[in-house]
Amino acid sequence: MASSSLCFPTTSAAGARTTLRPDVSGFLLSGHRPRTQFKSRSFDVRCSLDSNVSDMSVNAPKGLFPSEPEHYRGPKLKVAIIGAGLAGMSTAVELLDQGHEVDIYESRSFIGGKVGSFVDKRGNHIEMGLHNWILGFQLEHQLHGIRAFLSTNQLKPYDKARNALALALSPVVRALVDPDGAMRDIRNLDSISFSDWFLSKGGTRASIQRMWDPVAYALGFIDCDNISARCMLTIFGLFATKTEASLLRMLKGSPDIYLSGPIKKFHLRWGCREILYDRSTDGETYMTGIAMSKATQKKIVKADAYVAACDVPGIKRLVPPTWREWEFFDNIYELVGVPVVTVQLRYNGWVTELQDLERSRQLRQAAGLDNLLYTPDADFSCFADLALSSPEDYYLEGQGSLLQCVLTPGDPYMPLPNDEIIKRVTKQVLALFPSSQGLDVTWSSVVKIGQSLYREGPGKDPFRPDQKTPVKNFFLAGSYTKQDYIDSMEGATLSGRQASAYICDGGEELVALRKKIESQVLTEAASLTDELSLV
Ligand SMILES: Cc1cc2nc3c(=O)[nH]c(=O)nc-3n(C[C@H](O)[C@H](O)[C@H](O)COP(=O)(O)OP(=O)(O)OC[C@H]3O[C@@H](n4cnc5c(N)ncnc54)[C@H](O)[C@@H]3O)c2cc1C
Repeated sequence: MASSSLCFPTTSAAGARTTLRPDVSGFLLSGHRPRTQFKSRSFDVRCSLDSNVSDMSVNAPKGLFPSEPEHYRGPKLKVAIIGAGLAGMSTAVELLDQGHEVDIYESRSFIGGKVGSFVDKRGNHIEMGLHNWILGFQLEHQLHGIRAFLSTNQLKPYDKARNALALALSPVVRALVDPDGAMRDIRNLDSISFSDWFLSKGGTRASIQRMWDPVAYALGFIDCDNISARCMLTIFGLFATKTEASLLRMLKGSPDIYLSGPIKKFHLRWGCREILYDRSTDGETYMTGIAMSKATQKKIVKADAYVAACDVPGIKRLVPPTWREWEFFDNIYELVGVPVVTVQLRYNGWVTELQDLERSRQLRQAAGLDNLLYTPDADFSCFADLALSSPEDYYLEGQGSLLQCVLTPGDPYMPLPNDEIIKRVTKQVLALFPSSQGLDVTWSSVVKIGQSLYREGPGKDPFRPDQKTPVKNFFLAGSYTKQDYIDSMEGATLSGRQASAYICDGGEELVALRKKIESQVLTEAASLTDELSLV
């Protein structure tokens, strides 16, 4: 069996018409034997994504995003962005739309950060993680979710009743009539865990184990005892109130092509080693440049504004130690990344085809469940068959399922050798899908990320920094930064929009600061010349 592996120690939008099967989307809350019921009803989703990239003005879940920024009329700025993850790319797109000059610097050989992917020597697309999107949906589909909850055999009627009670007493109900008030209530629940909140409202342990833990693992890679009530309720509130944001979808192919592909041309392969800064005579700290390196080459980049769009370990390495005197920067060190392991397994048949054994053994046509799946019965709470859900790059003629499984918590798997990880995951796949008995794994890959999302534990939200920092020409972006959303693709994108808005707001001041820095440099050079001539 061929295999690939990667370790990062610290550091659809579908085509024109895609067929979805709502009955199998979301949950596969299986017991040891899958007991999901499948209905054949299908419906079509139409979207204007023919050119590989979503037109966000049409397709974005509008409720999530602030309205389009006003057209910028200030001076054109030169902006240097460190990090080409979604936050960096989103900042770049927003700034380019406003007419600024932008460069994105990325230390890795591929862009996209945690949502990045690349093609290995054998043509396999390796992804940093399994990603799904929250897209347009309608009331009909929310009702479908309620029907699924009522009919699932994963929870006993008693647990369902207690669940209903807990949700009825949650800010989610208030969100239906007063979304802003509900959001305030949700923020105030940051200091307790979801388990503590849920149990205090009458919810049961069984519901946590069978239903909410897989959701918590998928959202934050930690369980309900460790995730903050704010994090979980933010998502529930969103699903309850935004009829346009309640559908999980996946890209039709690899993120490298369908997500970050169009922005590749802006990417410059340089890592930032150091933030260079100075202090003016009036005591103001400002950046003077960023020291960059690529292999043995080094250079200094100067700009009007600098954006660090890094992950948590990346920003901790970049902040100059003396800046930790500011509580703003010191708080960042309270945030810690969660380890996660993503495993891909290619089979010589269709693992999730449960109804027709013959179909699961043929390789002429893809067969099985074509959406994101959750389970409480495996170490990967969240998985999908990419050959079905994102077929453009992952379906290969003459080959079968490509399961992508996200192992959460990743901690116990981090020290294990890849062979052992693959052995354990394969065994659990077989326990979930006994009908796949006899299918072979023909290729596999393991990607370990030592610190991925920040740990959204109770009491951590106040430590997330704003995009605007105490250093006037230095800004932050990144899914861990302050925005009313969790650490996610949407959060990263939102942080980029906010960083860009701050930069545009400060356009005049940033130009004034650049002039001040230039004149200070000239004054210093002149006084140096005077000193030299005196000598
Ligand atoms: C396994 C997995 C599954 C996920 N599933 C989902 C999902 O289904 N839905 C969802 O919404 N979200 C999901 N997420 C979360 C989502 O991927 C992240 O929240 C989001 O991509 C973070 O984007 P970012 O730009 O803030 O950070 P990153 O993607 O981490 O980007 C930061 C970039 O900065 C670069 N960098 C750091 N330091 C430097 C430096 N000094 N110089 C140059 N470059 C530097 C890094 O190399 C990196 O490319 C998942 C994450 C993982 C790991």
